[in-house]
Amino acid sequence: MIVHRSIAAWSAAKRSLVGTSLGFVPTMGHLHAGHAALLARARQECGTTLLSIFVNPTQFDDPTDLERYPRTLEADLAIARSAGIDHVLLPTTAELYPDAYTYKVQESAVSTVLCGASRPGHFDGVLTVVMKLLQIAQIGVDPAQQRLYMGEKDHQQLTLVRGMVEAFFLPWTVIGCPTVRETDGLAMSSRNSRLTAEQRRLAPQLVRALRESPDAATARTTLEAAGFRIDYLEDRALGTSHAAASRRYIAAFLGETRLIDNVALD
Ligand code: AMP
Repeated sequence: MIVHRSIAAWSAAKRSLVGTSLGFVPTMGHLHAGHAALLARARQECGTTLLSIFVNPTQFDDPTDLERYPRTLEADLAIARSAGIDHVLLPTTAELYPDAYTYKVQESAVSTVLCGASRPGHFDGVLTVVMKLLQIAQIGVDPAQQRLYMGEKDHQQLTLVRGMVEAFFLPWTVIGCPTVRETDGLAMSSRNSRLTAEQRRLAPQLVRALRESPDAATARTTLEAAGFRIDYLEDRALGTSHAAASRRYIAAFLGETRLIDNVALD
């Protein structure tokens, strides 16, 4: 596994990769089994794999959240190594934002609801950094040979990135991977490590209420009674495609920690 601490180092290495297939997994680090599933799938389906780790400041609407975001590089590299990843890119903010974020990618429909409504500017930051990383990662022009792996855990983000790839004719295939959960159902997340023991005990009720409630209003009542502070809880079909299936989306706080999840509705 080669660790590239600059875009230039990766760019030099990627010249020898032209003609192979590339599986790319962008992350913000503090890797867990959810990320490892994306890495394993990329490894299985592609000739070469690239993981990026970058805590992207432009997608944080809350400076404290950015400051408190867990950074565990050595453990992350160990997970990447055991997943058989070939290349790891660790870009810096200065390098990724030579324009000081004066240029951005903005979507004006899907990004205005759910997390977009409660976190102003969040998806501008996400789409901009993913656009930059896709340009940097790119080794060729064939979408069948450049595959981007993302989790359904962040389903709104996945929908927006799919839409961006289509809108800007980016030569990538976007692969959505199922949410990996703890045995009690809680969706794995880097933020789970911030939960107290008591909050961790309550947390699996989130997905249980999503799955078992007949409608969103009932799920809200159940979760509020259990001590969750609901940011949003909505049934929606995201995207412009008529084929878009309905899902139930939630963001809710346990103490200071904001958890998100979503499930498909029949
Ligand atoms: P993050 O670094 O947590 O922002 O996420 C990096 C990628 O991993 C994104 O595509 C996420 O959707 C995905 N991911 C995070 N948690 C999970 C999970 N529990 N299951 C599947 N994918 C996940």
